[in-house]
Amino acid sequence: MAKIAGLDDIVSLCKRRGFIFQSSEIYGGLASCYDYGPLGVELKNNIKKAWWKAVVQMRDDMVGLDCSILMHPLIWKASGHTDKFADLVTECKKCNTRTRVDHLTEHAEQHTKHISIDEAAAKKQDLSDKVCPNCGKVGQFTEPMPFKLMFETQMGANVDDSMTLYLRPETAQGIFANFRNVLDTTRVKIPFGIAQIGKSFRNEVTTKAFIFRTREFEQAEIEFFCKPGTDEEWYEHWKDARFNWYTDLGLKKDNLRFRAHDPDELAHYAKACLDIEYRFPFGSGDWQELEGIANRTDYDLRQHQRGMRTLNNWFEKKGDLSKIDLKDEAQDYESGPLSYFDDQAKKRYIPYVIEPSAGIDRSALAFLVDAYDEEQVRGEKRNLLRFHPALAPVKVGVFPLVKKDGMPEIARNIYNHLKKYFTCFYDHAGAIGRRYRRQDEAGTPFCLTIDGQTNQDNTVTVRDRDSMEQVRVSTDKLLNHLREKLEV
Ligand code: ATP
Repeated sequence: MAKIAGLDDIVSLCKRRGFIFQSSEIYGGLASCYDYGPLGVELKNNIKKAWWKAVVQMRDDMVGLDCSILMHPLIWKASGHTDKFADLVTECKKCNTRTRVDHLTEHAEQHTKHISIDEAAAKKQDLSDKVCPNCGKVGQFTEPMPFKLMFETQMGANVDDSMTLYLRPETAQGIFANFRNVLDTTRVKIPFGIAQIGKSFRNEVTTKAFIFRTREFEQAEIEFFCKPGTDEEWYEHWKDARFNWYTDLGLKKDNLRFRAHDPDELAHYAKACLDIEYRFPFGSGDWQELEGIANRTDYDLRQHQRGMRTLNNWFEKKGDLSKIDLKDEAQDYESGPLSYFDDQAKKRYIPYVIEPSAGIDRSALAFLVDAYDEEQVRGEKRNLLRFHPALAPVKVGVFPLVKKDGMPEIARNIYNHLKKYFTCFYDHAGAIGRRYRRQDEAGTPFCLTIDGQTNQDNTVTVRDRDSMEQVRVSTDKLLNHLREKLEV
C-alpha cells in the first residue's frame, strides 16, 4: 500500500532535494511565489514535454503557438476580463483578514467562480453564518467588494504616452488573437486546435497550498475550433483525452474524477464546463480542480471581431479607449475576419471552441503527491518518488562501486555515452546503498553500478527503483535495454 503524502511531506521533500524553493528566500521569501530548483525544473520541463507530445506532436489536428504575455488592452476588454474578471471579497471585522466570499463555506473550493464586477455589486450576500478562516469569528464581515484579478503595468517611458497594460491572466486570448494568422499561414482545416504553454498571472485574493494556487503560474491551454453542432462531440473527446493523459503518466485513477459545473457556476461565455479533479491531500474538500474543460462556444472570436471593428471606429472618432463599450458599437457578422470559410459546405461561420485548460504547476503538485511513497526496507525507512519514466527528472544514475580498479573510468565512459540520450547523474561518493536512496528520493527509475565483475565480463548491474531488483546487462546492450524500459 503506497503511503498517502501530506502536504508537509511534499514541501519538505521539495526543499530538501531541490525541487521547489520559496522565491526570494534569502530576503525572507515572497508569499505565493516559488522557484523550481535543479530537479524541479527537469520535472516541470518533462510535464510540458509530455503535454506537448500528446496534444501537438502526436496529433494531426493541432499546431502550437507561443504568444507574448503583454497584449493590446482591447484584447482584455473584448474577452470580458477588464470588466468581468473579479473575485468577491470580504474582510473580517475582528482580524481584518480578507477572504473570497466563495471560500467562506466549508466546501467552497469546489465551487469557485470568478464573477462579473457588475454581478458582484448586485449580489447581496448573506454572511451571517459564515466563519472567518483566520480567527473563527462568525458573521462579522464587511460588505463584499469586487477585487480585480488582473495585474496592471505601464508600458512606455513618458507619462504622456505611457499605456496601462495587463499581465495576461490566461494564455487563451493570445490564441484567439492569432486565429487568423494561423489560418493564413498553415493548412489547418476545421476541426483543428491551437496549443500553447506559458505563464499567466492573477492577483489571487488568497493563495494557498504551496504551488496549488499562486499569483504567477504556468498554463497549458488548447483552443480546439470546430463546426457549431459538432461541439458536444468534441467536448466528450477532450474530456476523455485529457483524463487519459494524466492516468497514462501514472496518476492513480482513484485519485481523479470529473465534476461537471452546475448551471449557476458556468462562466458567462460557457455552454458547458467540467473540471478534472485530483484528490489533493489538503484543503477542506480534498477533491480540487486540476484542469478545466469548457465549451466556450463562439464567444471569444465574436468578441474579438467586435473589438477589431470598435477599434477601427475609434480611429475615426477618437475618444477614450478605456471607455469603449463593445456592446454599443458592435454588430455580429458571420463574414468577418475571424470567420472560417468551410469549402465543403461553401459557407462561412464562426467556429465553436472547446478549451482544455491545465495548470503545469498544479499538475506538478499532483504528480509529486501521487508518486510519493515511504516504505520500510530492512528496518530502515526508504523514501521514494514513483514517477513515470517520462516525468522522472533524472532517468539513470551511474555509479562506480569503489573509486579504484578502473571502475570510475568505465563509469565515466558509460555516463558520457548515455547522457546523449537522456538525463543521467554521475555519483561516486559514499556508500552504494546511500547513493541508491538519494536517487530513489529523486525518482530516478534506474541506477547502474560498475563493479569488479564489469572488468571481467563487460556487464553492469541495473537496479530498478520500484522493485529494487538488480539484473546484469552487458555494456553493449545497455542503451537499448534502458531505452526500452524508459520508453524514450
Ligand atoms: P480556481 O477556481 O482554482 O481559481 P479557475 O477555475 O479560475 O481556478 P481556470 O481559469 O479554469 O481556473 O484555469 C485553468 C487551470 O489553470 C486550472 O485548472 C489550474 O490548473 C490553473 N490555475 C488557475 N489559477 C491558478 C493559480 N492561481 N495557481 C496555479 N494554477 C492555476
